[in-house]
Amino acid sequence: MAQDFYEMLGVDKNVSADELKKAYRKLALKYHPDRNPGNKEAEEKFKEISHAYEILSDPDKRRQYDQFGPEAFSGAGGGPGGNPFGGGGFQDPFDLFSQIFGNARGGRGGGSIFDEFFGGGRGGGHNGAMNGSNLEYGLEITLEEAVFGAEKSISIPKMGTCEHCHGAGAEPGTGKSRCVRCGGSGQVTASTGFFQVRQPCPTCHGSGEIFEKPCSKCRGEGRVRTERKLQIRIPPGVDTGTQLRIAGEGEGGLRGGAPGDLYVVIHVQNHRIFTRHGNDLICEVPVPFHIAAAEGSVEVPTMSGAVKVKIPAGTQTGARLRIKGKGMPGLRGTGRGDLLIIVNVEIPSKLNSAQKKALEAFQQSLSSTNYPARHAFEAEAAKFLQKSE
Ligand SMILES: [Zn+2]
Ligand SMILES: [Zn+2]
Repeated sequence: MAQDFYEMLGVDKNVSADELKKAYRKLALKYHPDRNPGNKEAEEKFKEISHAYEILSDPDKRRQYDQFGPEAFSGAGGGPGGNPFGGGGFQDPFDLFSQIFGNARGGRGGGSIFDEFFGGGRGGGHNGAMNGSNLEYGLEITLEEAVFGAEKSISIPKMGTCEHCHGAGAEPGTGKSRCVRCGGSGQVTASTGFFQVRQPCPTCHGSGEIFEKPCSKCRGEGRVRTERKLQIRIPPGVDTGTQLRIAGEGEGGLRGGAPGDLYVVIHVQNHRIFTRHGNDLICEVPVPFHIAAAEGSVEVPTMSGAVKVKIPAGTQTGARLRIKGKGMPGLRGTGRGDLLIIVNVEIPSKLNSAQKKALEAFQQSLSSTNYPARHAFEAEAAKFLQKSE
């Protein structure tokens, strides 16, 4: 007994066309061979749900299905050869998939929805080759490494191009012969009840040829599980989220397909002294009270050594001083940032009695002009209190 198409798509009998499409999209993305390289079960499932969707999304066929059940459309037992409902065979599930996802370029070759989803794309046409997926690798670096650039060794576990056969899938020195199953056409026709279904030949993956002897190392896949060690150069100026693309270092292609690319995604660690704001670096600097009051200078660290910074008389907490050109280098060699000093005036603590006395004497010498903010605030506060009485 063939499986119920509604069940296969996980919907019930009175599902709307919209919900049906949604259910199919979800399953098709899950089982699409591009997402499950080498997984035959997923590929079968993908074809099955595509077939079920093709029937149920066509109002006429759906009516017939509801009347006659899945036996009218599937089941390996043969049955009458012709198609009583008119119309040709089934669509290539990959073409159907492309239609559902609105792929303007159409077809199985060239790009597909997976360009957007996985950055990959299937290898050219029905030759059985499949391009490798792109890989993403997260790399943590220090702020110093982001400023000056760095050389890093990384090792990436991946499906890499088989070195024995250089990805071709054939044992070196052996050739190809015509596929016996499809007679070299790359397509097989399966009779499924009333319909004739044309699909890519599962033996030669649609190429029409098979290897005389598959590669002994990769069993004809053209790629093997490897751990790839790479030296990568981090350019100065990178930031968290910067992606470095390394062409051809993604997953190996299948049966001669091109390898994908590797994207190294940078994450810059927090720094104990500096925080980054675009290309500027920010450093909060405690400044002794007497220097902030009477002017002087403090030493400030920068990425290229210490510099002396002049603190003007009367500098308050929160004041910002800019040191030109001591920030991050621009990623493309231009637009170097600045170092921003944020002053944090430090009030002396743990005074002894002699110091307190000295401070008292000092305080006696002050007038309201020495504390303009305090003076202005007192005046405003007095006005406010008078009004509210
Ligand atoms: Zn090989
Ligand atoms: Zn074949």
